[in-house]
Amino acid sequence: MIPKSSVLLIEDEENIRSFIATTLKNQNYKITTASCGTEGLHLCASLCPDVVLLDLGLPDMDGIDVIKKLREWSCVPIIVISARTHEQEKAKALDLGADDYITKPFGTVELLARIRTSLRHSNQLNAGNNAGLLAYHHGDLVVDYEKHLVTLKGEMIHLTQIEFKLLSLLAKNSG
Ligand code: CA
Repeated sequence: MIPKSSVLLIEDEENIRSFIATTLKNQNYKITTASCGTEGLHLCASLCPDVVLLDLGLPDMDGIDVIKKLREWSCVPIIVISARTHEQEKAKALDLGADDYITKPFGTVELLARIRTSLRHSNQLNAGNNAGLLAYHHGDLVVDYEKHLVTLKGEMIHLTQIEFKLLSLLAKNSG
């Protein structure tokens, strides 16, 4: 079977961690786990998961700060899984960029449905971002997003991957 999307789970409670990990593995998701915020942030940067499941009560930092830090550079869907039921806490997490909030205890059917929903949303967003944007033309400059090529007056310009990414970002946001 082809593995489904990859999930990063940041949760310090061993029982919950292994329960969620087993559930997702059975559904053929690729799952990676972290037991604290720092480890979670590192793994998110190195693995670029499709979705992050985040507990708020972590030993080294508050999950709210994990959301803040992640949102500085990543738009990965974040689903908060927390025992904190205060409306204020939920609102704060969502305002800071979490996509969804599940209160513990929760059922596996609900968890899986929420994961599917956030994956669907992010896929739609990605498709929307790329639609109609196969290449950027400005004067003699062409940035071909699909082929990862840049030409100026018909001549190919060699760029490193990061240079290409930067130029693409600027071109997509030109004006
Ligand atoms: Ca916890």
